[in-house]
Amino acid sequence: MAQQVVSGDALVRAYPDYLKTSDEKQIVWNDGTRMPLSDGKPDKSFDEKLKNASLLDQLSLPYPIGKPDHVPGADEDPGRFRNQAFFDKMYGDCDKHETQKRLVKVPWFGGFVEVTTINGVADKLRAVAAEIDRLPAALKRYAYPSAGAFACRTVKDTGKRSMHAYGAALDINTKYSDYWLWGKGAYHNRIPWEIVEIFERHGFIWGGKWGHFDTMHFEYRPEYFDARQ
Ligand SMILES: [Zn+2]
Repeated sequence: MAQQVVSGDALVRAYPDYLKTSDEKQIVWNDGTRMPLSDGKPDKSFDEKLKNASLLDQLSLPYPIGKPDHVPGADEDPGRFRNQAFFDKMYGDCDKHETQKRLVKVPWFGGFVEVTTINGVADKLRAVAAEIDRLPAALKRYAYPSAGAFACRTVKDTGKRSMHAYGAALDINTKYSDYWLWGKGAYHNRIPWEIVEIFERHGFIWGGKWGHFDTMHFEYRPEYFDARQ
């Protein structure tokens, strides 16, 4: 199932403001910083990848773009392997108050959400809001109020920084949401595809496509929409 990605090209194409080039061993940032793709540990368990993902681990599970045609398997979590050093460098360390300097408030259906301007995330979210606003009322009510965007916090089961800590994630209406840690484990979703489809078109992946499902959650991960991957 897992497609073997052998270079960081998808990352370079997804984050052109920060990354210059890559080869089979590393990515090179515009400031000259080099980061290895592999951590030299090819036999890590799923849990180890969640807690300590290399860049190769981060790219190892393809995200299924488009209308879901199956319930995700238990360990089908595309996007949950995140290399913290990579995202810390790009969006800043919120514990050092770096991320906060690049946050703006984006209007979200009568309220505001706080997200980063890095990689154009705030503008993309404005576009998402405008498109959701054009959906029929019966569909768009699932999107608001937002349950939050920026939050300097970690993911419950991994202890690693959430994309919310980078200002690059948004939770929609909790009332219609399902989360693997709330229920008895069986996959459940009430969020309409029309909303998910809009987020995906702007580079956001959806937590409803994870075995460890979190159906209110969207995060900006353009590397998964790379046509050449
Ligand atoms: Zn979330």
